[in-house]
Amino acid sequence: MIKTALKTRAYAAQKPGDTLKPFEIERREPTATDVLIRIKFCGVCHSDVHQVKDEWGGARFPMVPGHEITGVVEKVGDQVSRFKPGDRVGVGCLVDSCKECHSCKAGLEQYCEDRPVLTYNDVELDGKTPTLGGYSNFITVRERFVVNIPDSLPLDKAAPLLCAGITTYSPLVHWQAGPGKSVAVVGMGGLGHMAVKLAHAMGAKVTVISRSLNKKKDAEAMGADGYVATADPQAVEKAQNQFDLIINTVSSAADMNTYLGMLKRDGVMVLVGAPNESLPVSPFALIPKRKTLAGSTIGGMPETQEMLDFCGQHQLGADIEVITIDKINEAYERLLKSDVRYRFVIDMASLQEEA
Ligand code: NAP
Ligand code: ZN
Repeated sequence: MIKTALKTRAYAAQKPGDTLKPFEIERREPTATDVLIRIKFCGVCHSDVHQVKDEWGGARFPMVPGHEITGVVEKVGDQVSRFKPGDRVGVGCLVDSCKECHSCKAGLEQYCEDRPVLTYNDVELDGKTPTLGGYSNFITVRERFVVNIPDSLPLDKAAPLLCAGITTYSPLVHWQAGPGKSVAVVGMGGLGHMAVKLAHAMGAKVTVISRSLNKKKDAEAMGADGYVATADPQAVEKAQNQFDLIINTVSSAADMNTYLGMLKRDGVMVLVGAPNESLPVSPFALIPKRKTLAGSTIGGMPETQEMLDFCGQHQLGADIEVITIDKINEAYERLLKSDVRYRFVIDMASLQEEA
């Protein structure tokens, strides 16, 4: 086990499906290559809900969720060169990887051939020490997995960029969203609303595909040129063969064939949404127009910094509802009803005041 020393307050689930409650944890004293961060804000990702409920299997408890972390550097190890106390920094879904494999060498740590070490619900490379996430006051992270938050972005609106931002930025870049490209975003939640803002800033024509018309005004304000409410069969029919790229952020089982029908010839639909169910796909939704169904997860460390710099230049933060930590269980309930505009962010000062 890694030696721990610093006690910090946190919120944890003790078993699958449990509510989150106050809990004390320990962080390691920074080693030569570590950065100790005082967490200011942490976004609430739908992945937190999936994992607390153990929907993906193999969850580890006690679980302290949270992988959209922003804060300020408290202390650095002797060999840390990129950060100093007082710097505004972020930590996303990754806290380690083998650093040697083909993917790590290419800065694609999220696809590490050994395994990426996730910020929570995982164990360190020693195979024993559990990782505990950002619903806490402090975290110790290796320098390589810490990023700079541009001065033009407030720490609360920047927090969701560490997962929702990079998870949508990476496939938009990989599949070349930009001028002349027609991009659709399925699901207007935390990931979806960032995808709209990012694709618009990249110069693509953006359409939101949501279940109802409820989010149309907001989508347009974020830069959407088009809007399809799937509750309206005529709107779905009109949207056939329209898009070069679809970023699908849906968090529960939905009919993929409907969305695939909206791709043009050679179009690509990228799944970033991760429901636990299998999603039936008809071969005839893909074959006749040479379509591709793909997947993507978060982004590597260089690309995460690139995304933050892009957001800094374009003044792109998330639309957030800031909550105190005692409202976290209510926030999970609301997330399950898609009742969030568009990301909950926990003000971690509320955890210091508690207990
Ligand atoms: P979220 O804020 O809850 O948004 C999900 C959106 O999906 C909802 O707002 C809703 O949009 C739509 N939706 C939900 N159920 C649906 C259904 N049955 N049919 C059609 N649409 C439905 O969640 P999030 O935080 O953005 O996360 C979305 C998903 O991405 C989660 O599964 C999460 O685990 C996953 N994720 C993956 C990665 C990765 O690396 N690949 C990273 C982060 C998150 P409308 O109200 O507009 O219909
Ligand atoms: Zn996430």
